[in-house]
Amino acid sequence: MTDVTGPGFDDLIVGAGFAGAVLAERLARDAGRRVLLVDRRPHIGGNAYDTYDDAGILIHPYGPHIFHTNSRSVFEYLSQFTAWRPYQHRVLASVDGQLLPIPINLDTVNRLYGLNLCASELDAYFASVAEPVGTARTSEDVVVGRVGRDLYRKFFQGYTRKQWDLDPSELDASVTARVPVRTNRDDRYFTDTHQVMPLHGYTRMFQRMLDHPNISVLLNTDYRDIQELVPWQHMIYTGPVDAFFDHCYGRLPYRSLHFEHQTHATEQFQAVGTVNHPNEYAFTRVSEFKHLTGQRHPQTSVVYEYPRADGDPYYPVPTPENAEQYRCYEALTRTRPDVTFVGRLATYRYYNMDQVVAQALATYHRLHPVGAGAAPE
Ligand code: FAD
Ligand code: UDP
Repeated sequence: MTDVTGPGFDDLIVGAGFAGAVLAERLARDAGRRVLLVDRRPHIGGNAYDTYDDAGILIHPYGPHIFHTNSRSVFEYLSQFTAWRPYQHRVLASVDGQLLPIPINLDTVNRLYGLNLCASELDAYFASVAEPVGTARTSEDVVVGRVGRDLYRKFFQGYTRKQWDLDPSELDASVTARVPVRTNRDDRYFTDTHQVMPLHGYTRMFQRMLDHPNISVLLNTDYRDIQELVPWQHMIYTGPVDAFFDHCYGRLPYRSLHFEHQTHATEQFQAVGTVNHPNEYAFTRVSEFKHLTGQRHPQTSVVYEYPRADGDPYYPVPTPENAEQYRCYEALTRTRPDVTFVGRLATYRYYNMDQVVAQALATYHRLHPVGAGAAPE
């Protein structure tokens, strides 16, 4: 176990996910500070943690994590700690008895409606069915304003209600805007410049980030149990921001998931990494890890995601009311110059992994501008 009885630490970092690990690495390696990184879970990596299951298949216990970014600096930063395997994620949605490409593209529309449109005809088709929405404010506006109500109902409304327990009309535009619409036949889920998976997994990458004499890691530990016992100067907090302030403005809604993991005695379970089920079942999607990792194995492991309100906080819920409530907490964070709040839960932002890394690198540059190397893009 880590010895925390020494002369104390410069930084106490709460949470060993991307936000905490990037800051631990930078503070220790670049600024020479002594860092104590604590997590209440029994492992590093936060929600990106991966591990081998009983069958020996590399799985993501907290759901499928696919790395994609347009940021060269984020990609280069992480490349110090891992080699990569190229991986382009593909998703099919089960709609009207067919498995169709999502994001909606030319093949989706042609196969769904039995048409034979070309790309320019599809543009005209979308224009004919799209509803006028003016400025898209909600997640409903974004979709009906682009592809009309039928595709919205078939691909987005049911999935979104399951995932968030809210109608798309109650959610910010940014949520469904994550999924583009295409008029060509590109069936990749992402189009970022860099689409890769860490060759030996996320956990190995985190281990290499944290392998430094100035970094001590304490797992199975809630920071509240040690913050008075261990001397530290500055805290980096990456947990839920409302919990830090004892929910004094009420609980911020975070959406949770129940993950059902299964192993099957077959080499391949489904044709692509993820199959979405917008309209049937209580789960939203099924992901098969071997597509992501490239692992070869006679069996295969999959995960079903069942959205729920209670449980570990995974998603901030982007609505105008929640943004308002978050702003109260954000104002409180400014009364604590001894603590820096970073990451998806602490800044209540629906961030992907690369955005969290970029936010953590930018935070480091703000905290330690001298000798901090090149600023991120
Ligand atoms: P986290 O990883 O949540 O880390 C926070 C850590 O703080 C946790 O380990 C927690 O245990 C710890 N903590 C909290 N409170 C305390 C406390 N009191 N004491 C001690 N420790 C505490 N992003 C992508 O880019 N691509 C994807 O494909 C993708 N898929 C996703 C799928 C799912 C199902 C989910 C939920 C998220 C996905 N993401 C994906 C997003 C990605 O998980 C996050 O962007 C990223 O992991 C956030 O990192 P973080 O460090 O901010 O938070
Ligand atoms: N979404 C949907 N149907 C789909 C895929 C996504 O309605 O087939 C909506 C849904 O609201 C979802 C959001 O778009 O929560 C963002 O999807 P993404 O795949 O980015 O979700 P994440 O991987 O972050 O869970």
